[in-house]
Amino acid sequence: MDNKDILRLENVSKFYKSANNVALGIRKVNVSFRMGEFVIITGASGSGKSTLLNVLSGMTSYEEGVMYINGEDSSYFGHDEYEKYRKDYIACIFQNYNIIDSYSVYENIELALIAKGVKKEDRKPVILDIAKKVGINHRLKNKVTKLSGGEKQRVAIARALVSDAPILVCDEITGNLDHDTSIEIVKLLHSLSEDKLVLMVTHDPEEVMQYATRVISMHDGVIANDKELKEVRNIEEIKIKETHNISKVEIFKLALRSFKNVPKKSIFLFLIILVATIFIGFACASVGNSNNALGQSEIYYFNSGVNYDKRRIVVKRQDETSLTQADYDTFTNNSNVNALIKNDKLIDTNVNINVIDSEGNYLFYSSTFIMPISMITSKDLIAGRMPENKNEIIIQSSQANYESFKSALNLDATIGNNSQFKAKIVGFIISDDSLSTIIYLHEDYCNIYSELSQIKAKEVVLKGYTRPELYVKDSTLANNSVMTCSPKGWYDSDSFTYDTLSYLEGKETKEIKNINYSHFEYEDDYTQLRSHNPDFFNLFDELGYSYIYLLSEDIYNTLLASNPLQASLYVNNTKKVDETCTELINSGYIAINLYYEQTNDSGEILNAILSVLLYFYCLLLTAVVYLLAYLSLKKVIYSERKDLLIMRSLGISSKIATSQIYIKLIGISLITYLMFIGFSLGIRVNYFPSYHPLYAIAHMRVVDMVYTFLLMMFMTFFLSRKFAKNIFNANIASKDKEERLS
Ligand code: ADP
Ligand code: MG
Repeated sequence: MDNKDILRLENVSKFYKSANNVALGIRKVNVSFRMGEFVIITGASGSGKSTLLNVLSGMTSYEEGVMYINGEDSSYFGHDEYEKYRKDYIACIFQNYNIIDSYSVYENIELALIAKGVKKEDRKPVILDIAKKVGINHRLKNKVTKLSGGEKQRVAIARALVSDAPILVCDEITGNLDHDTSIEIVKLLHSLSEDKLVLMVTHDPEEVMQYATRVISMHDGVIANDKELKEVRNIEEIKIKETHNISKVEIFKLALRSFKNVPKKSIFLFLIILVATIFIGFACASVGNSNNALGQSEIYYFNSGVNYDKRRIVVKRQDETSLTQADYDTFTNNSNVNALIKNDKLIDTNVNINVIDSEGNYLFYSSTFIMPISMITSKDLIAGRMPENKNEIIIQSSQANYESFKSALNLDATIGNNSQFKAKIVGFIISDDSLSTIIYLHEDYCNIYSELSQIKAKEVVLKGYTRPELYVKDSTLANNSVMTCSPKGWYDSDSFTYDTLSYLEGKETKEIKNINYSHFEYEDDYTQLRSHNPDFFNLFDELGYSYIYLLSEDIYNTLLASNPLQASLYVNNTKKVDETCTELINSGYIAINLYYEQTNDSGEILNAILSVLLYFYCLLLTAVVYLLAYLSLKKVIYSERKDLLIMRSLGISSKIATSQIYIKLIGISLITYLMFIGFSLGIRVNYFPSYHPLYAIAHMRVVDMVYTFLLMMFMTFFLSRKFAKNIFNANIASKDKEERLS
């Protein structure tokens, strides 16, 4: 009889306040409990039994009086102290079992140990032992939804006992069970909890009375009767198992478990976040691309770089059709225009220049842009003279590079990535504003395309850039097919064939689909081909052209039987660039000065404002996506509310319970983000014309990838926060209501 009080209430009252009335839960209750007691609490519905249990188990706060826990005044307990109290002292069993449906029996029992921070290797023996005692050991691997009511309650008992908390709180635990099962359950509970304090609310006490040491009956929120039935076993000391904090790894595993255990929901979650990622990623990619000052859709240029020259104007027809001789005439008739480069892709091509001295020693190597010689006069030269024939060139470089270049004056150089063109260096220019090296070349060579296409106007077109190539119309080829050929050993891969052709497809040829490629590189075929077009192949050799495409007539006609879509003009006086552009635009052309677009001051400020606005648009779009994601995920996430409440009732803090939502949502969005980036990098090898929806993604810049990442994380963080907040709503009334779900 001298067992110490573990719980004692002094004048404790609990009221439920709502907007317009106050309901009484319990009023001025004085009661105390000792270890070893098996207390049965009876009373009519609404008499305050559950309220009493909730107060005693720290599930709910009280308004008046004091509760002493193991002698300690709890009236100053805050949220954390209550959580610790519940974790250390309380195990609950509920009428509707409150086990997690998606878990197996084993996992449900294990959860109580996880909540107490028990290490994985220590869990199994305890679980097996208790499962045996409770008689559920043969169903450990089963999903709990497959169990009968009695079995479910056994799982709940096992879970309550496994962590060995000193106080067992049971609220109408037999309410859902038939008579025989009820008796069995109570008997089982009694046999396993002799050294604990058991508080049990039950409606039909007669049958279970034989197990009770004490019976309390409630009426209208007060204790009407409190009767001792039996002596209580002497328990000297209250042993409280030391609990640990649940580890981060364990929280992560729980999140993973809930992800894995309900695959349908998880897939839905995944799909919604994937769609959100695609939206946000696509918006950022598009904004990033449109923000690119050049407006890539406006002009073509080749992969190896763009020659941003102050004096260069890129022109196209506004209707984006091929340029005609009349157009070329318009350009050259403009008094400001010094040079017209019809094949201006060459200008945007980095070509290599190699110089070897008279002894055959390697002198220097550089990557350069090509410009027409008419852009300079002898006044610009720092050394040497102006070219006198087509094979002579001038090199422009920085002062620093000039030091290493100057000994090459009057030496031969090879130009082109396959050294296909030989030229003599006859002069040098030092540039003050450009770091890249430029070769000034005779216009005819800058215009290789138009020069050569005149030779066999309708049969052959030559487009030579970094890899000079020949395109030959072949009427024997099947429709829509292309055959690529090279002398044996020159190239053994046709991987760039695809790039080049699709590049040529450009805007005009979007209707060409399903091109069939084939490849041969046999000496015989090559020789045969050669004999058909001797003139052409001589030229091909002379310039060192190295690759041939045979095109079927339909492909030839669609791809190549037209003039280029774009040309470049050079204006000698940089002050006239603006004026010239305006004139060209007024005559119906698109005219862009790349240097101006890149560096103009007012343009920069405007661009900065524009880019801020565009990125703001992405942010706004993210907010909309957030809202849509919230609406579509609401049901799925809130369906987990019960599970999280159960975890909390086992002593897992609400913060830790809800952190699973963060882990899941942010985890998924990380995965979908990586998928998106993987896709973007994956399609980078293919060429998409600018009107293609995948163009933006294939050209996504790193900063936009980072921006997408931030927006995604930002969105999923706030989404998780919103869900987490709503699940354990701070509002006391609804919180209690949720707890009363049990
Ligand atoms: P019992 O478990 O004996 O049926 P309860 O403790 O659940 O009784 O309820 C006691 C009284 O408190 C009842 O009048 C009930 O309406 C009221 N009550 C219980 N919980 C709440 C709550 N969350 N909000 C408002 N009133 C409540
Ligand atoms: Mg009740």
